[in-house]
Amino acid sequence: MLIDPREQRLSAAAARGWSCYPPRAMFDQRRIAATGQKARRGDLPAASGEMPRQSIGGGQPCDGCGETIHPVERFFYVSIRGRELRFHDVCYGAWKGAWRAFQRG
Ligand SMILES: [Zn+2]
Repeated sequence: MLIDPREQRLSAAAARGWSCYPPRAMFDQRRIAATGQKARRGDLPAASGEMPRQSIGGGQPCDGCGETIHPVERFFYVSIRGRELRFHDVCYGAWKGAWRAFQRG
């Protein structure tokens, strides 16, 4: 089985117990909540059928939760009406999920 080198870096960081990288699940819950709130406030454009592209973070802020996308993290970016949005992978999911919930009413 091939192991993604980025995943390897993440787990190596976790194994060393880096204080700047608390367990991923803690990050994820906070980020999902922040992105969902922002979407519900109307501070994010509506998600539609755009195709996200993926890259590795370079210290930019996430448009969902506002936290930094660290160089060991994957992120998604989409272009909506000329605006480029970057999201952590979990924030991208939260943004899409928030809009699906709106559409269901
Ligand atoms: Zn985020």
